[in-house]
Amino acid sequence: MNQNSQPNRQDFNQYMVPVFAPAQFIPVRGEGSRLWDQQGKEYIDFAGGIAVNALGHAHPVAVKALVEQGQKLWHIGNGYTNEPVLTLAKQLVESTFADKVFFCNSGAEANEAALKLARKVGLLSGSARKNKIIAFKNAFHGRTLFTVSAGGQPKYSQDFAPLPEGIQHLPFNDLDAARAAIDADTCAVIVEPIQGEGGVITADPEFLKGLRELCDQHGAVLIFDEVQTGVGRTGALYAYMNTEVTPDILTTAKALGGGFPIGAMITTDKYANMYAVGDHGTTYGGNPLASAVANAVFGFINTPEVLNGVRTRAQIFAEGLKRLNERFGLFEEVRGQGLLIGCVLKAEYAGKAKDIVTLAGEEGLLALVAGPNVVRFTPSLIIPEADIEAGLQRFERALARFVGA
Ligand SMILES: *Cc1c(COP(=O)(O)O)cnc(C)c1O
Repeated sequence: MNQNSQPNRQDFNQYMVPVFAPAQFIPVRGEGSRLWDQQGKEYIDFAGGIAVNALGHAHPVAVKALVEQGQKLWHIGNGYTNEPVLTLAKQLVESTFADKVFFCNSGAEANEAALKLARKVGLLSGSARKNKIIAFKNAFHGRTLFTVSAGGQPKYSQDFAPLPEGIQHLPFNDLDAARAAIDADTCAVIVEPIQGEGGVITADPEFLKGLRELCDQHGAVLIFDEVQTGVGRTGALYAYMNTEVTPDILTTAKALGGGFPIGAMITTDKYANMYAVGDHGTTYGGNPLASAVANAVFGFINTPEVLNGVRTRAQIFAEGLKRLNERFGLFEEVRGQGLLIGCVLKAEYAGKAKDIVTLAGEEGLLALVAGPNVVRFTPSLIIPEADIEAGLQRFERALARFVGA
């Protein structure tokens, strides 16, 4: 490729390892919930970078934090601590059940830290057999070997065997199955309060309560993977706050940096202190640049105005999607919480979610799938109401073409 020529979509096929199949257009600029591609075509963003761009694109508060910290100190290594990371840890602790925070760079790494800690909890219990991890079918926890093994979609893990042992997958929302499986050898249960990638499926409150009781009864840690549901997505700061259940360990990433890569595992003193110096680590985790941006993003979101705004916007989506479904009758159900929204296709349209997302892109709307049968929206938490209405109009045009096709 000529250094000066403009990169194009063909270059993706030529130079990139083909684990993704991105859209044909290439976005080059974003502002709020609008994006523009190389040709200057405008898009409304209902995808939010997969629940990451919680403040939309180029939000002044995030940009300011990035630029100011960028001129001061980017990285120092974990031989030193730094001011932004300490401020961020304090914010997280003061806003949640947790006493301590471990920072990393992604959701998978946050879960890796949690699952390794769970094994350490088992070890320190004194029973050499307390290493069983309970996870759920259809769950998604990331792509490292441990997290992809904890995930409940064999298609993501089976090619990479031998996999880490001691992980058992149960049907989601099946408390009887959990009762039968969780025992003295269980060191942890890992669960998403809402399965995101798995199709936007909310855990029953009674199911989560039951898991909490079983973990208490058998001395296992309850891990909530809130990588997708966290940082305001559901209208609460974390989704556990909508339930009557408090986990022992919670993982958060995606929206935490609003687009700057950062993840965290948060937990209580009891479990945090089971990790000793040298037990776990990461080069970049909690570096000043990422932490400064996350401080700004998290602080902005963690206010009644923004969190209540999520509920108001969710209502506008719900009404708009209901209207569209009255016209087209494509969806079995529209589900989710806050601005984690899944439109579930009726059986006769099974497997067609991706086709709808492609048509939406052509109409100038970024959307997501959650599996083959669910169209998913995870927009900015502060998407302007006018952009929601305009985006739904574009979605309507895409659906009209879909049923006409
Ligand atoms: C996205 C996601 C992950 C993985 O996060 P990465 O940053 O891609 O590693 C883990 N768990 C859940 C619930 C997710 O939605």
